[in-house]
Formats: sequence, C-alpha cells, structure tokens
Amino acid sequence: MTPEPPTQSIAVVGSGLAGLTAAHFLQRGGRRVTLFEQGAAVGMDAASLTVAGERVDVPLRVFTPAYYPCLTRMYAHLGVASAAADYSLGVSHAGAPVWSYTNVRIHGVCVPVPDGLASATALGSRRRRVTRDWVRLLYAALQMQRMPWRLADRQVARQTIAQYLGAQRYSDDFATHVLVPFVAAVMTCSLAAAAEYPANAVLDFVGRVAFGRRVRRAAGGVQEVCRALAEGLGDVRLGTSVVAVEAGGGDGGGGSRGCTVVVEAADGSGRQRLGFDAVVLATQADVAARLLASGSGDGPLLADMLRALRAVPYEDARVYTHADASVMPADRAHWHAVNLATHASGARVTSTHWLNQVDGR
Ligand SMILES: Cc1cc2nc3c(=O)[nH]c(=O)nc-3n(C[C@H](O)[C@H](O)[C@H](O)COP(=O)(O)OP(=O)(O)OC[C@H]3O[C@@H](n4cnc5c(N)ncnc54)[C@H](O)[C@@H]3O)c2cc1C
Repeated sequence: MTPEPPTQSIAVVGSGLAGLTAAHFLQRGGRRVTLFEQGAAVGMDAASLTVAGERVDVPLRVFTPAYYPCLTRMYAHLGVASAAADYSLGVSHAGAPVWSYTNVRIHGVCVPVPDGLASATALGSRRRRVTRDWVRLLYAALQMQRMPWRLADRQVARQTIAQYLGAQRYSDDFATHVLVPFVAAVMTCSLAAAAEYPANAVLDFVGRVAFGRRVRRAAGGVQEVCRALAEGLGDVRLGTSVVAVEAGGGDGGGGSRGCTVVVEAADGSGRQRLGFDAVVLATQADVAARLLASGSGDGPLLADMLRALRAVPYEDARVYTHADASVMPADRAHWHAVNLATHASGARVTSTHWLNQVDGR
C-alpha cells in the first residue's frame, strides 16, 4: 500500500474576504489551515455594526452579478441569500446639487434613470448637459460590453479616463463633478488617482454595474458569509499579528524545522516562529511586501514578488461610520444611497453612503 501523502499545512495571513475565501477552499481541499488575523474579530466583518438588533455591513458590501461573477457563485455555493440593494446616486459641488439618478426596474432590467427626467423642462442646462453625457457614457459602455474587443481598442486601452472624456468632448461638469468623483468613491482613491484610471476599466465597470441585474447585498449581512466561510476551520488565531514571513528549509527554531515557509507571529503572550508548507498573504500589497521584506530570505523570485507588490501605490483615505446628517445634502429630498460631494477647492471628494437607504430599511 502506498502511504498517504502528508497533509499540507498552509498559513493564511488576514481574514478579510480574500483570506477567509482562501482558507475555506484550502480546507475543503484537504489542507491543514492556520488563519492569522491581527484584529480581535474576523476582518471581513470587523467594522460592521448591530443597530437596534439589525446588522449593518461596514463598509458597504454590495455587488452586481455581472461585475462580481465569482463572488456571486461563491455566495450560491455557501447558500448565502442575497437581497436587492439601492445604489441611487446624488452628486453635489460646493454644497449645491449637480445631478442625481434613481434605479428603476424596466422589464426586469435595472436602469439608472436621471432624476427630473419626467419633467424635462425642470432640468436646468447643467443637469441636461450631465444627463446627455451620462446617456452617452452608458451607450459607449454597453457597446463595449456587446463587443468586448473594443475595450482592447488600441486608443481606448491607452487612454486614462480623463483623456478619454476630453477626447470624446464630454462636458467639464460631467467629468469633474460626476464621473471622476464616482470612480474615486468606488475605488477609494483621490480625485487625481481616479482621473488616471484606464478608460477601458471604467467603461467596463460602468457597463456591468450601472445596467442590468440589480445591485445586491448578502441578505443576512456579511456576518453570515463569514460564518459560512469560517465553518470547519480548526485553527483561527485572532489577535495574532504576523510580523515576518521567510523561506524555511532549515532549522528555523520552534515548530519550523524542515518546512518551506516560516511565519513569525506575535500575540499577547509573545512571539512564535511556526513552520508551514506554504503561506497565503491575504493582506493589502504594502503589508505583504513589508512581511516578505522582514524575513531573511532573498533570491530572484522574492525580488520579483517585492517589485510587484511595491508597484501598488497607496494613498491616505479615511472611512468613518457616523450618524452626522450635516455631511448630507442640505435638502433631504436630495439624499441618495450614495452621495458624492466635491468641495469648492475641487481637490477633494467625500462619498457618504446612506446605509439605511442602501439596505432598504
Ligand atoms: C468605503 C468602502 C466601501 C466599499 N464598498 C464595497 C462594496 O460595496 N462592495 C465590495 O465588494 N467592496 C467594497 N469595498 C472594498 C472591500 O471592502 C475590499 O475590497 C475588501 O475588503 C478587500 O478584502 P481583502 O480580504 O483583500 O482585504 P482586507 O479586508 O483589507 O483584509 C485584510 C485583513 O488582513 C489583516 N491583516 C493585515 N495585516 C496583518 C498581519 N500582519 N497579521 C495578521 N493579519 C493582518 C487585516 O486586519 C484585515 O482583516 C469598499 C471599501 C471601502 C473602504
């Protein structure tokens, strides 16, 4: 009889969506998984809240089946039910409303209909201009969806979204107050970084998110997703920060003899060096680079990985959970699920998600 191959042991660092998913599928595939999370709770749900007995996902965790096919399949695999979410959008500049849309279901298709269309005369010239540009952009994005090779069109593929809007003569109001702030809010980045996004990536996003089947969320909140993904994981170490990862293969001390990877972890009781056959770094790229650089390893593969991870630039973005109505549009009639506000200086955008509205409460 051939002996059973030894079970591979895998360390997963980080318990956000990426880490939990990796741990779940590795465990199902017969690996022995140890999941490390520096926070006191599973990362994917750590910022969520319970308000008046109801679970509120923080940050927003909405998805559309067309843009998130893998997530949608995974929710189905886990038996997580989804519910419709609202993703209506309002945009203001220097405190004055510029433009907004509401999602309307037409023959089963969810269409973002600009507000005020019913009484066309009520649309000011600015709103009319932005509406015309929004319709143009949707049309271009839908065309790209029907003919995906156009996304790779040499000119579009080379352009940033700011260059594309300029070349196609979109109005400044639409570019500066609507689309670029929208990209900044969705990608959690500055206006300057949003303007540099590849045009084809933005068109692809708009085509698949803004039109089609409705924006959805996990009906029971992502805590249900976390529960399902973590089920059966034997070794989950909360409050344990990984401080270095390095190649093993020798006498690394502690439990790391003869292993491929050594993970150094710190918790309230001190530091430990642990050996594994492999490690999944499910953290942000800058953290992964720091962990790999803290180890004593070298070699061309590590150098390549560090180069790739360090090529991802990071900016400071602040996310607050609050109940401060003063950051919402002054007129409550202009409140939407997502409220983008560019400031008078034009240098900053604030995106406020009205979570009651998103979740339909
Ligand atoms: C305001 C906002 C709104 C968003 N809205 C949506 C949305 O509607 N839909 C959507 O799909 N996405 C949305 N996102 C994006 C989504 O939240 C992220 O894409 C997702 O959380 C990334 O998951 P991740 O597992 O890659 O990373 P993270 O969630 O960042 O997980 C990394 C984990 O690793 C842990 N960690 C880090 N370093 C260490 C260490 N050294 N040792 C141990 N543990 C460590 C961290 O504590 C964390 O728990 C939004 C983001 C923001 C900020």
